[in-house]
Amino acid sequence: MARFPEVYQDPQWEPARQECIRRANGLCQECMRKKKIKPGKEVDHIIELTEDNKTDWDIAYNPDNLQYLCTDHHNHKHNRSNGLQDFLIPPES
Ligand SMILES: [Zn+2]
Repeated sequence: MARFPEVYQDPQWEPARQECIRRANGLCQECMRKKKIKPGKEVDHIIELTEDNKTDWDIAYNPDNLQYLCTDHHNHKHNRSNGLQDFLIPPES
């Protein structure tokens, strides 16, 4: 979550985040796809942020590019089992 702090500190972020949570009814959308009901924890960018797109409103702040995930699904998507991976593996393009 701290990879692009300027996005999360932008005043546009909070309303986008709230809209995403509201749309998801506060539930993890990936769990919902598996017909499980589990509260969400993290708002995730479906198209991941990069240095190139972080200033693009449609990527960074459009609720259509956001999904609400539980911690498990968020960690799974970002493969955060090893905190160094974000630095060692370049983002896929
Ligand atoms: Zn989940």
